[in-house]
Amino acid sequence: MMQSTDNQSLTDDELLRYTRQILLDGWDIDAQLRLKAARIVMIGAGGLGCPASETLARAGVGQLHLIDDDVIEASNLQRQTLFLPEDIGQAKALTAAQMLNTINPLIKAFGTVARLSIDNAYELLDMASGLPDLLLDCTDNFATRDIINRISVRYKIPLLSASAIAMEGQLALFEPQLNTGCYHCVFGDATVANAAASDQAEQTADERTCANSGVLASTTAIMGSLQANAALQYLGLSKNPLAGKLLLWDGSRMQQRLMGYRLDERCTVCRELT
Ligand SMILES: [Zn+2]
Repeated sequence: MMQSTDNQSLTDDELLRYTRQILLDGWDIDAQLRLKAARIVMIGAGGLGCPASETLARAGVGQLHLIDDDVIEASNLQRQTLFLPEDIGQAKALTAAQMLNTINPLIKAFGTVARLSIDNAYELLDMASGLPDLLLDCTDNFATRDIINRISVRYKIPLLSASAIAMEGQLALFEPQLNTGCYHCVFGDATVANAAASDQAEQTADERTCANSGVLASTTAIMGSLQANAALQYLGLSKNPLAGKLLLWDGSRMQQRLMGYRLDERCTVCRELT
């Protein structure tokens, strides 16, 4: 099977693989072509990044770029679905990308072992060759969330942000090009305070979130899938199913709520960068 570089049409292999999707009401070849032409950058190839990227790869998103500086540990295997016991000690970004290319040879996944910062974002996200269509925040600490949000606002790249802890999760899709609010507009200075705290305790950020509070295997699987669900609609149908809404998932009660938000005129991130 050859990967097609032509984004104007689907090959026979692609038509066959994506047929159940193309058959969907409201989904068609054009939607599939938009997925094929899309480039997603995912920050974090762990509990959220694994299920989200697997679904996006299977669904036919043309380019998936995973950025993560972590290595696979035994305690990751409970929820990080792209990894096997023999992968322990390997780089998450590279192992995940390799698995995604194996799952779907018709797309292109690649991994970079790096820690994203404001300073290296332009180069790391390869913005010289154009902005990514969507940024996925699949991280587990406030310091990186704050950085990803600032990059999204500064370069006006849509940001699909997911989080998962214990049996709860949150999801939002920010569109800085529409000036409708950012992650900091919603969560306020708590994010900055927490970012400073986790900056000081950089090594323990993961432990504070996952080891102290724990996370049920299904929470990350569900939130990663919801994240993929929003990404596919956004890229395939140019529709934001979460416009102005924060999704809150409560796994213990099996409840999902949507909470409205809007641009905060006093948001330091939006004001500083626009
Ligand atoms: Zn803001």
